[in-house]
Order: sequence, then structure tokens, then C-alpha cells
Amino acid sequence: MSSTLEASGTTYEDRNPATGAVIAHVHETTREELDAAVRSARKAFDGGKWSNMAASRRAKVVYKMAQLIAERAQELMMLEVRDNGKAVSTAKGEMGAIVDCFEFYAGAATKTYGETMPPPLPTYLANTVREPVGVVGAIIPWNFPLLLASWKVAPALAAGCTVVLKPAPSTPLTAIELGKIALEAGVPEGVLNVVTGSGRELGQWIVEHPLVDKIAFTGSTATGKLVAKTAADTIKRVTLELGGKSPTIVFDDADIDAAVAGALYGIFYNAGQACEARSRVLLHRPIYDRFVASFVERAQNVRVGNPEDPQTHVGAITLPEQFEKIKSYCEIGRSEGARSLIGGIPASLDGECANGLFWTATAFEAEPGHRIAREEIFGPVVTFTPFEDEAQAVALANDSDYGLSASVWSNSIGRANRVARAIRSGTVAINTPYAVFPGVPFGGYKQSGYGRELGMETMRLYTETKSVLTYVGEKAMNPLGL
Ligand code: NAP
Ligand code: MG
Repeated sequence: MSSTLEASGTTYEDRNPATGAVIAHVHETTREELDAAVRSARKAFDGGKWSNMAASRRAKVVYKMAQLIAERAQELMMLEVRDNGKAVSTAKGEMGAIVDCFEFYAGAATKTYGETMPPPLPTYLANTVREPVGVVGAIIPWNFPLLLASWKVAPALAAGCTVVLKPAPSTPLTAIELGKIALEAGVPEGVLNVVTGSGRELGQWIVEHPLVDKIAFTGSTATGKLVAKTAADTIKRVTLELGGKSPTIVFDDADIDAAVAGALYGIFYNAGQACEARSRVLLHRPIYDRFVASFVERAQNVRVGNPEDPQTHVGAITLPEQFEKIKSYCEIGRSEGARSLIGGIPASLDGECANGLFWTATAFEAEPGHRIAREEIFGPVVTFTPFEDEAQAVALANDSDYGLSASVWSNSIGRANRVARAIRSGTVAINTPYAVFPGVPFGGYKQSGYGRELGMETMRLYTETKSVLTYVGEKAMNPLGL
């Protein structure tokens, strides 16, 4: 917590999923402490030291956070690797993206403009100002702990909000460091409050709390629905970044080698524990066999290994429950008749990772109706399904409750853009594996959520619009003539 509270003594064990070792004893926040954290955020907001600070000054503090994170990138990276189990090669890229995110929103602080309207009456001035929304409850999952915290904390601070940040219980360590970095950068006490705990209640308490104005939530669709329902009681503003079952669509006129490389990254990056993972690959019939053969051959070279080894592509599965979920989906796939092409079993490592949670790079041929081709697995498991023509590709891509991301591979500009336009998802990447950048909005259609993170659009979601109407006529108004 950024302001110091007398903490109760209860802690829980936080483990490194690659080794099973306990790496920290983490504080269990009680309801009273959560209430104190929210009150401290409320007091800091209402006091106005941060929310009314000149935007240019706030910008400098947020920029200082970017600098401090950059200075400590190596240490934060290793903390993330040990807490989450992700490969160091993955975590390294995240650290750069986190610095970029804070830099972007430092710049955004001074560019969150209101508007001036044409006068509604000749004697009027009308304009809007954008004011910080208030106390933000930021709730994040375990797959990209510091990155997803940054996507919320950086714009919220830039807008002048105060924050209660709740990391996932299994990966709280970098969020705690972020709280310290904020203080060091000059964020006033009480503005960023980090609360940790292992129970299901902590998030719920934040969403229920009457002194919280907005919830920025990233997590599963099931929890997101609960958050939206609970938040309705106090009419909180809510943004939801939820699950996905995002497609890669490859046409016969694509650069197949590049598309295979993109598809490998799309599912094996972060061990497939990514909301935007491209977990279903839809292939134009004429290139189906060639693509699948090439993918499977190259997938044999995916190195599942010790996350701390720079050569590792796929690190550990973060949670035992997640490991069981992946295992059970592979069994479901086999039992529903999907054809296993590679993997589908745990990966056994030796040495210090002998007790870790690892899964092999896995691919199945599946029917569109198979559960493994429809439900979010959140692991290194991909399905291949053929399509005959553009219309069927679009229909298959859209036949999902989710709509987070998609990739289209085609060398026809017209076709790629037609398909991009027809797909109902928040992001479409054409001929590239990379589609997430600080300046570009990210978020879902359908049950992948609502609201956007990243980009300037997000600044609208951490602010309220206030309309200010000024009478400038010479003669005073007297509407009732009294
Ligand atoms: P989760 O179980 O929904 O948990 C997410 C966060 O919500 C955790 O901090 C969790 O804390 C908290 N939480 C649980 N119940 C809550 C409640 N009733 N009220 C408020 N908060 C509550 O999701 P996860 O398993 O950690 O993360 C995986 C999911 O996140 C996947 O579905 C993935 O697609 C999605 N995700 C989406 C994005 C995106 O940007 N769209 C990015 C990353 C991940 P506890 O663990 O203490 O319960
Ligand atoms: Mg951990």
C-alpha cells in the first residue's frame, strides 16, 4: 500500500510455478484494511492534490514512473518470471511495453481536451471539460501482472484519478513494487493503493464499495459478468477486458511461411495464457495440408523449459488449476474426436523445474463445433479447421461468443480488408503477429467485454464530461418574468 497501514499478521504463500518453491509470504488484506485503502484513495482524490494538480506536473510524475521502471526493468522482469512462470524472453518484451505505456500516458495527461460547442444561443458560451472520474478499482489477472496493471494505472493517474489496485493472488509481487515506484516518482500518498489477498472476496469488496467510482477489470468473462452485476448497484462506471477465442485466418494467397510463424507466436507466446491468443486457426482448403505440416514441424522446435533460460519459448503454466484445465481440455478434445497432431500432454523437465507445471506445444484438427475449438482454454493449445471460401471464413470467425482479436493473412489488399471489416472483434491484425501497442485501443466486442484500454480513447473512460454553460448577454435573463 502506498500509505502505511497497520497490517494484520495473516499471510499466504506465493509460489514460483516453475519450481514449486515458495517465493514470498503475501499479506491477506482484511475487509477493514480494504476499507481503509478505499478511504485513503477517496481522501486523496477529494483533497485535490493530485486530481487538481496542473496536468503538466502530473505528466512529469507519470513520466518519472516510466523512467524508474526502465531503470529497474531487469529486477522487475525477474520478479515477474519467478512469480508468474513466464519465459524471460516474454517478460523482457513486456518490460519495454510497460515503459512505453507510462510514457504514452504521461503525454496524454496534457492532451485530454474538452470541446467548445457552437453557442446554443447567441448569448451563450458552451464548452466541456474532462474531469477525472474519481476513485478507480483496478482488478487484474495473473497472466500479464505488471503489464495489465500499467494499462490501468498509467491512464488513471494521468487523468488525475486515484486508484486501489488489486493484483491476482498468485502474482502480486510486481504490483507491490509499482506502488513503491509511484511513491518514489512523487505520486502523493494515498493516490495509488495496492491491496493483496488470496480470497475471492477482495475483488468483490472493491466492486461493492460505495466510495469507488469506477471499476477497470481484466479477467474471465464469468467474473466480468459478476462484476458488472455488482457494480450496477452503485452505478459505477465499468470497463471489462474479458476472455477470447481469437482466430487466425489464412487464405491461399498469403505468405504461408510468415503466416505459420505468426500462428506459432499467436498461440505459444506466454504459454497461450493470453486473452488475445490466436487459439483457432482457420485455413483455406487449398493450403490446409501444407500449412498444418509446416506448423507441426516448426512446433517441434518450441522449447518448453526453465523460464529463466533465455532460450526458452514456453515457460510454466501459472496455476495448478490452469494446468488441470488445459489437461482436461486435451482429454475433451480427444474424446470428441479431434485429431491430435502434436503435444497434448504435460512436459516433464528435470533439475530445479522437476516439480513445475509445464505443458507441451499442442495442436489438434477440430470441427467448428468441438468444445476445444469454441471455449477459451488459456494454454498452448491450438485447433486447425478448414474453410472453403471467404464467406465461410468470416462465418466461422464470427461464430463465437467472444470478439477480442483476429489475424488475417492474405496478400490481397481488398480481401484482407473486406474480411477485417466483416469480423466482429476489437482488433484485427493483417499480415502481422503484433497488434498491441500503447497508442492503439485494445478491447472486446461481444462477451470479450466493453470499453477500451490503451490509446487516447481510454482517457475518455477515466474522465467524466462536464458541460459548462456561460451566459454572456448584456441584459440579465428573467425566464419567469417575476
Ligand atoms: P478471473 O478469475 O476472472 O480473475 C481476475 C481477477 O478478478 C483476479 O484478480 C480475481 O481475484 C478477481 N476476482 C475474482 N472474483 C471476483 C469478484 N467476484 N469480483 C471482483 N473481482 C474478482 O480471471 P483469471 O483467471 O485471473 O484470468 C484469466 C482470464 O482473464 C482469461 O479469461 C483471460 O482471457 C482474461 N484476460 C483478459 C484480458 C483482456 O485484456 N481482455 C487480458 C488478460 C486476461 P481472485 O483470484 O482473488 O479471485
Ligand atoms: Mg506466484
